[in-house]
Amino acid sequence: MTEQNGDFRSGFVAIIGRPNVGKSTLLNRIVGEKIAIISPKPQTTWNKILGVKTLPHAQIIFVDTPGVHEASSKLNRNMVNTARKALHDANVALHLVEATDPLLLQCEQVVWQLLEGAKVPVILSINKIDLVKTGNVFAENLLTFQYTKVICISALLGTGVDLLEREVVSLLPHGPKYYPDEIFTDQTERVMVGEIIREQIFHLTHREIPYSCAVLVEDFKEREGGAIFIRASINVEKESQKGIIIGREGRKLREIGRLARVDIEQLLGAKVYLDLWVKVLKNWRRKEYALREFGLA
Ligand code: GDP
Ligand code: MG
Repeated sequence: MTEQNGDFRSGFVAIIGRPNVGKSTLLNRIVGEKIAIISPKPQTTWNKILGVKTLPHAQIIFVDTPGVHEASSKLNRNMVNTARKALHDANVALHLVEATDPLLLQCEQVVWQLLEGAKVPVILSINKIDLVKTGNVFAENLLTFQYTKVICISALLGTGVDLLEREVVSLLPHGPKYYPDEIFTDQTERVMVGEIIREQIFHLTHREIPYSCAVLVEDFKEREGGAIFIRASINVEKESQKGIIIGREGRKLREIGRLARVDIEQLLGAKVYLDLWVKVLKNWRRKEYALREFGLA
């Protein structure tokens, strides 16, 4: 926590929405392009922090509510319970649906039951309004759940997103800035992923090689279906080291990636695509900017 002043608002916003309703699109629009994932620390309620948006007067921390969307079809009790806890700890819930989904009203019963129990303000956000004719968006009078606000948006075009952001902030309690300004997501997972890769380099190479490698996780994204795409660079000091890391016909690098991926998947609890690159950054160990970039300064 880096700041505390009386007017600052902050808190957790649980996002509920079935796949494809536009959750990622909305987050990318609000938080920025580079969204990564925070994985579960086993003892915490949250499965994922999806993104952090810091404003001059507020900080919004978007979190996932695991499985609510699946729950509406499968009625998986565990997932519902996990989601219930996540909602319970949130300050605001954001229920994202599609304006174009004709089955909306029948399908959201499970979600409504959860929301009833949660006792947090809930914003219904109807996305993809660019796809429907105005005046034909939604039969609001058919809702049996009492939403705090109903806001129509197009996450794709940005319509209504500012309003949504303001409404979210207005529902957050006064509180501290949990994350520093430049953090749009928790970085620790990236660092841990880098360490796992480095560990395999230590296993599979010798002498000075492991000490000449700095691993930088350059991209870390969730893909459709919950898989995680990670691109990381292994930065070495000399061309000759690059050859050793890559190995004959790329075998060494593939082996590093294969072993690291197993551990990373364990850490993140998700399927991982690991894309490893080897780069030469001449004598990086003697360069201040490089050390800073690798978090070693
Ligand atoms: P998620 O599964 O909930 O994260 O959904 P995505 O953000 O991945 O979006 C699913 C699809 O819906 C993508 O093809 C998006 O481009 C599209 N989409 C998201 N928001 C909008 C919107 O406001 N309007 C339109 N027309 N398409 C959208
Ligand atoms: Mg998505």
